[in-house]
Amino acid sequence: MKVKRIALIAHDEKKPEIIDFVRRNRSILINCDLIATGTTGKMIEEEIGLPIQRMESGPLGGDQMIGAEVARERLDGVIFIRDPLTAQPHEPDITALLRVCDVHNVPLATNLATAELILHGIIEGN
Ligand code: PGA
Repeated sequence: MKVKRIALIAHDEKKPEIIDFVRRNRSILINCDLIATGTTGKMIEEEIGLPIQRMESGPLGGDQMIGAEVARERLDGVIFIRDPLTAQPHEPDITALLRVCDVHNVPLATNLATAELILHGIIEGN
C-alpha cells in the first residue's frame, strides 16, 4: 500500500484545533507523509514531534506551494482548518488552493468534522 501524502494547514485562530486533531490522530498520521504551511508545520513538529515537510508560511506563499503539489497530483488529501471569522491577507491564495483541489478532485477538509471523515476515508480506502 502506497504511503498517503497529506497536507495540513490552519489559520492562526484554528491552530489549537489542528494540534488537537493531529494529537488525536497521531497513530494514523505517523504512517503518512505529511506536509504543512510553515507555522502550522513548526507547531506540529514542536508540540507533537511528528516529522513534517514545511513549506513557506501561508501569507508568504505556502498555500500556493501546497496548491502546486495538488496540481502535480502529489497529494491524497488536504486538511485546511480555516477561520471564517477573521480576514486573511492571503485570501486569494486560499481561494486558489480550494479551487485546485476541486480541479484535481483531491479531498479537502475545511473544518474538523470533515477532517476526521477525510482522514479515515483516505486511510480505509487505501
Ligand atoms: P501558517 O499558514 O501555517 O504558516 O500560519 C497558514 C495559512 O495562513 O494559510
